[in-house]
Amino acid sequence: MHALAFDVGGTKIAAGLCDDEDRIIHRWRIPTPHDPADIDAAIAGIYREAKGLCESGGTVGASGGTADSADRSGIGSIGISACGNVTSDRRTMSFAPNIAAWHDYPLADTVEAAIGHECPVMVENDANCAGWGEYVHGAGRGSAYMVLLTVGTGLGGAIIADGKLYRGAFGMAGELGHVAMVPDGDFCGCGLRGCAERYISGNALERFARSAVRRYPDRAGRLMELCGGNVDHLRGAMIAQAVKEGDSLAQYAFDKIGEWLGRVMAQASAVLDPELYVIGGGVVEVGDVLLGPARRNFDRFLEAGAHRPHARIVAAEAGQDAGLIGAANLSRQVTAG
Ligand SMILES: [Zn+2]
Repeated sequence: MHALAFDVGGTKIAAGLCDDEDRIIHRWRIPTPHDPADIDAAIAGIYREAKGLCESGGTVGASGGTADSADRSGIGSIGISACGNVTSDRRTMSFAPNIAAWHDYPLADTVEAAIGHECPVMVENDANCAGWGEYVHGAGRGSAYMVLLTVGTGLGGAIIADGKLYRGAFGMAGELGHVAMVPDGDFCGCGLRGCAERYISGNALERFARSAVRRYPDRAGRLMELCGGNVDHLRGAMIAQAVKEGDSLAQYAFDKIGEWLGRVMAQASAVLDPELYVIGGGVVEVGDVLLGPARRNFDRFLEAGAHRPHARIVAAEAGQDAGLIGAANLSRQVTAG
């Protein structure tokens, strides 16, 4: 059976029709509507298109050739990776910082109604979907205890324990971006202060680089050139470009988020003791520029570090597709269960 996966963010909805091994065989990408009812309708519209593709056999018919018509037409489940907190039954958005109207919103119910109850819908937090995607088909394959940290606009987290996605009693586990690292530190969008994502994110990278430029203007030539002379226009891609050219201030900015990343992982290990950390998100494209300082500081802050095995720290492999792949795979499990 196929699974239809959605990744619903604050600005765009990505969708992928997945074959029975979670390979994405057709894609959609649309802007996120403002009204939740319009989001439901957009998902239903893509579902009907995907169903049409399956029934026509056109794009999708290559999956073995012997399937009967019911199998060929079958979308067995819908998985929605959503940017926000999801209730423990995987059906309702309790809160979404970027989609204000998703407050106690019964997303699985409304989408199932919009598609005439033709197949079941599962909703899961986007970082959890990405973590599960990396676990089943990416850098986490073969591990049993894994933590994903996604360094993007913020810092997302997901925990795999004993081969299962660890969701906690209320579906809220894995929010490592909001572990308080600095008492009374920088204000965070969540309402608390000093959260890890204030120091480990694309935004934090830009902040560290800007402060370095202001402090060391004599060494800021290349970064100032890249941002057109206005430090407020300095963006992550420019800092990544400069670091590849050997720029010392850009390296300082990556060293800083790498240090904080190492600290967070060391704290997470004290609680969860995983064998593997998978680091995802756009910032990790620089590879060891970030992972090097992250590993060094993880070793430095790990409790009893000289007397225990150290978890491996690697870059994600499934990239932008991790959320879709994870949502597709998880939706099948819910159906099977
Ligand atoms: Zn926070």
